Amino acid sequence: METQGPSRRALFRGQLLSKPVAVIGDDCFVEAGIVCRSCGDSCPESAIRFRPRIGLPPQAIVNETTCTGCGECVGACPGEAITLGAARRGDAS
Ligand code: SF4
Ligand code: SF4
Repeated sequence: METQGPSRRALFRGQLLSKPVAVIGDDCFVEAGIVCRSCGDSCPESAIRFRPRIGLPPQAIVNETTCTGCGECVGACPGEAITLGAARRGDAS
């Protein structure tokens, strides 16, 4: 059978082998207009910064390069908005 590009299995393995990083979901309080910096305060690597926005509280952004996937921010988040997941390739803002 002819194949095109990497197999699904190879892609899946690649995702599993990449380090986990913090992923901030839509339940983050700041998206509801509530100021919060608990994740940034809890991060031992200072891997979460807050980007100023007009009309909304600063947005939490994870630096996927410096995030170690330790999970400290997961427990610190009052909105249960953070999970650990695969890093997005090329996004190390
Ligand atoms: S998983 Fe750890 S290193 Fe990564 S952002 Fe959260 S607290 Fe920081
Ligand atoms: S701790 Fe949770 S709710 Fe607060 S800014 Fe971070 S992700 Fe959002």
